[in-house]
Amino acid sequence: MRVFHTADSARHDPERYLRRGTPIPHPEQASRYAILHAAARDGGHALAEPADHGLDPIRAVHDPGYVAFLAEAWDRRAEIPGIADEILTGSFARPQMHRTPTGLLGRVGLYTADTSTPIRAGTWAAVYGTAQCAVAAADAALETGHAYALCRPPGHHAYADSTGGFCFLNNSAIAAERMRAASGGPVAILDIDVHHGNGTQGIFYTRGDVLTVSVHADPSDYFPFYAGYADEIGAGAGAGLNRNLPLPPGSGDAPWLAAVEAGLATIAAFKPRGLVVALGLDAAADDPIGVLTVTRAGFAGAAQRIARAGLPTAIVQEGGYLCSALPENLTAFLAAFDAAR
Ligand SMILES: [Zn+2]
Repeated sequence: MRVFHTADSARHDPERYLRRGTPIPHPEQASRYAILHAAARDGGHALAEPADHGLDPIRAVHDPGYVAFLAEAWDRRAEIPGIADEILTGSFARPQMHRTPTGLLGRVGLYTADTSTPIRAGTWAAVYGTAQCAVAAADAALETGHAYALCRPPGHHAYADSTGGFCFLNNSAIAAERMRAASGGPVAILDIDVHHGNGTQGIFYTRGDVLTVSVHADPSDYFPFYAGYADEIGAGAGAGLNRNLPLPPGSGDAPWLAAVEAGLATIAAFKPRGLVVALGLDAAADDPIGVLTVTRAGFAGAAQRIARAGLPTAIVQEGGYLCSALPENLTAFLAAFDAAR
């Protein structure tokens, strides 16, 4: 398996996170990069840093004003008195409040959905480099059949113009759009992170050329709360091309794999030219913020089923948090995928 990673991933290392109103150590720590990198290396895969394809593949799915905000926010931090190590706000634009302020603090609330995505000195370098990993994996998948992008921070909660849920740039969406443009045909995304891929759904919801499928925990009492329900099926040219497969909390391998199979059946019927797998490992039983109970065998089983679909496949890392199962589940997934190809 070709693996694309960037050492810049470690330059974004948020310290605090408000969980249910209480400050805790941020779950999306830079050490995730080191752990996933070691697992990929020890699994015998071919690791490489990606080429730099610039901003065009990022702007292909993200709002230009949002991209500029992310790129320049840290350098403008002096506009906000009292900023020390990170830029955050407690004021967020609701849909009824739609004016675009010129000041940085107001723009933070316009372009962020919650307090999980502080902007720090190395944040732009990390998310930019990570997006390039997604681009490289998309290209490699079309050339050689499959590749893995070790994307950290994750991306699938980022909308075209908003951060959220630890995510800044939507790496899976960037990979999918890259594959669609390069292959000249429709592509599909299968998101198996424990959280609904709401940003990805939002980006492609009215598109007829990208099918989005997400297998996740029921959002009625779980992040991202406001999207991810089974009756969200796409709209306009994308009507019928969004499929959500929510599962009750506590669900384990059998129902999870059945949902993955159902998603793959939808994807096969769509006849895409490429597939992006949004690989969250936080459906694991011992993940600190997950609510499903998927085992290592379950992740291997998903990889086998996905590999046997026979599509050019870019595997893009999403969630999966610090626990002993994190590297083991990545190792199992990549090994099972390779073995089934
Ligand atoms: Zn997740």
